[in-house]
Amino acid sequence: MCEHVSAVRQTISLSNKSATHSDQFHPLGPTHGRRDALGLFQFGAGRRGAVTQVFRRLGVFVLLSLAWVGLLWPASSWALTCRDAPALAWQSVVPGVAAVHGHWPSVTPAGRAHVATTVVLGQGQHVTVVDPGPTERVGRALQQDLACRKLSHKLSSKGAPSAAPRVVGLINTHAHAEQVLANGAFGLAAAATSGTRDAMRKRCPDCLAALRQDLGATALRGTRIVVPTQVLVDGQSLQAGGRAWRVREMRHAHSESDLVLWSEDGGIVLAGGLVDGPQLPVLAQGSVQGWLQALAELRAWQPQWLVGQQLVSGPGQVQAALQRQQQYLCGLVQYAWQGLDRGWSEAEAVQDLPPPQAWAADVTPTQARTPGADQTPKQSTDLWTTPSAKRTHPDLNEAWQNQQRQQHVFNQLRAWREVELSWMDQTTRPSPWPGLCASTPDVGR
Ligand SMILES: [Zn+2]
Repeated sequence: MCEHVSAVRQTISLSNKSATHSDQFHPLGPTHGRRDALGLFQFGAGRRGAVTQVFRRLGVFVLLSLAWVGLLWPASSWALTCRDAPALAWQSVVPGVAAVHGHWPSVTPAGRAHVATTVVLGQGQHVTVVDPGPTERVGRALQQDLACRKLSHKLSSKGAPSAAPRVVGLINTHAHAEQVLANGAFGLAAAATSGTRDAMRKRCPDCLAALRQDLGATALRGTRIVVPTQVLVDGQSLQAGGRAWRVREMRHAHSESDLVLWSEDGGIVLAGGLVDGPQLPVLAQGSVQGWLQALAELRAWQPQWLVGQQLVSGPGQVQAALQRQQQYLCGLVQYAWQGLDRGWSEAEAVQDLPPPQAWAADVTPTQARTPGADQTPKQSTDLWTTPSAKRTHPDLNEAWQNQQRQQHVFNQLRAWREVELSWMDQTTRPSPWPGLCASTPDVGR
């Protein structure tokens, strides 16, 4: 659906090679090509004068230079532009669907680290990017990695060098800074639901400022807000990466509007911000009830593959991943309901809040670790983390755990206000929670 949009193009500059340099690429003897080349410049051959000789040499030089540019430029260009390319840890989900998990630590002790998962659909020359990341630099690095990976593969397998893949489609699943602020790096019209577009217009200026505080001005250099202009609507079909995807909009779930892409044929669901990996869910702009309803729908589809935030689940694991997310949210509901029954205030409820059950709150995201002192990342850590960066820096790990504890308190307070409404209305309206948290006891029965 986002095809035929012009992408960022690399500028090819042709250097002014000397004749001596071009001679390095001469064939060993006079080849058919060279004879043909000479033949093109035979208009003065009858006189065999000095001028003709000059034109002959010039003709050979020009044609061989063009041949060099045409045949060898991709290899030399690869060496020039890909030597320092980021080596992103792509996780192949199924052919034509790959994910990379980004983690960007804060540059200040009080700041927040940010995580996001980017998905690339397609494996040919045209690919679509879902949630490009938090900054312009990250978006550019992503494109560089894609181009260099493809060219490197073609050169190493001795195939004919071909054009690097172009990002021709850009999709935002929801209006959170980590997912959308790299939009500007692609020179494309991004696609999203109207809810995400409107939320970006409303919140992105503040999000950009907050992200700049967390990640630093250098990391945010060049980053600008690019609001999606292509609107995706619930129920529509779109083609991306050689597959048909159905668009589902889950309203008021993780955010105001969460886009889910569902490939029924492949059993693949791209869940955006609705399912989390090691990090706790973020209940800032969404609602517990809407989120639980969205999870129930995802479970009913019975996907074989699930891609969430910092998470890829395969066959046999998907239901467990969805259930884990549901249990966290239902745990918030249960705790709030019990607290209300006991007459607690909000402040009392979170005073000694126990850590969430069945959630590895003390684990840093996989593939999101900061290198130790003896390891040098291939690129700045404000871009992406790499699989070689395995060791965890103790200070950053502690900061991450503190952030997770604060997130849990925040989530509990958000859930409290939502549960409180149904708790107060329980005599007049049936509570929604038993239906959404069937496996969780004491939620309003
Ligand atoms: Zn989010």
